[in-house]
Amino acid sequence: MTHEIAVVPGDGIGREVTPAAVDVLSALEIDFEFVEADAGDAVAEETGEALPQETYDLAASADATLFGAAGETAADVILPLREAVDSFVNVRPAKAYPGIDAVRPETDLVFLRENTEGVYAGHEDRLTEDVATLTRVVTQSASRQLAEFACEYVSEGDHDGFTIAHKANVMRETDGVFRDTVAAVADENGVETDEVLMDAFATRICLDPTQFDVVVCPNLAGDVLSDLAAGLVGGLGLLPSANVGPERGLFEPVHGTAPDIAGEGVANPAATIVSAAMLLEYLGYDEESDAVHEAVESTLENGPRTPDLGGDASTEDVTNAIIDRL
Ligand code: ATP
Ligand code: MG
Repeated sequence: MTHEIAVVPGDGIGREVTPAAVDVLSALEIDFEFVEADAGDAVAEETGEALPQETYDLAASADATLFGAAGETAADVILPLREAVDSFVNVRPAKAYPGIDAVRPETDLVFLRENTEGVYAGHEDRLTEDVATLTRVVTQSASRQLAEFACEYVSEGDHDGFTIAHKANVMRETDGVFRDTVAAVADENGVETDEVLMDAFATRICLDPTQFDVVVCPNLAGDVLSDLAAGLVGGLGLLPSANVGPERGLFEPVHGTAPDIAGEGVANPAATIVSAAMLLEYLGYDEESDAVHEAVESTLENGPRTPDLGGDASTEDVTNAIIDRL
């Protein structure tokens, strides 16, 4: 069976790390058909559109999309692309790698962030010069869809259950719906959960991240808390993410276009290659996904390394070392 993979490198180092991840996927014995498409600042300058319709359509029909990064136009690219794959959950692992400087090297967390509602789907108003307001949307149906995914995620992986991070003591209606729905779905599925107030969670992961494993959060909380966890494991540079929908997914590194090093051929491809490993897992290639994870881990630990990690290797050197270890 052939899998069609949309490849959208975008701008900056996206153009360097995305081909590196395609090279790694191509080294596996899986029948992929890669179709490249434009998005981002460069195509916007040429055509006036940051996300050409054909790129949107491709993402909406391919089995999965591998995305690099977009510069100034990031919001005009990534938000519609997430919509194209009908993504309802953003999966953000935050795991420290051996041999990499981290504030909390023992961190090994996965955030499952609601990806469609909360304040990001809300409506902002400027009522008077003095007063601005924001409405926040939380539905049982989206909370249920996220919770069902979370139950499957913990059952398929090596996890005892999940933690629900929320602030339902203050936002009783919206976070109340979120917490109650997620907890009820977990209960129906025989999955254990515990709860934590998101502010207390922020303190607790800084002091001891090993208290948590899989964390299910509303949209804004997940955005902030997963970035906080990224700080604990040594920054955004190594972190992957997956935007998962019912039938397709969009996989991208957490970092941006890194304009300071773009074009030099020294960007670290690890985050994008691990995002490709998440793509493999999504398509059901668990063994291949594990192999890619292990090859990346071993290369981060033993080298070669790109300059951001103190080495002097190029993107290509690191990619080839990862492929050799597969
Ligand atoms: P953008 O607006 O596209 O997010 P940015 O200036 O915020 O761009 P980021 O891509 O977020 O840049 O990166 C922040 C810092 O981390 C930069 O100094 C960048 O060089 C570094 N960095 C990010 N990703 C990588 C990578 N894959 N390899 C090496 N360095 C990286
Ligand atoms: Mg940035």
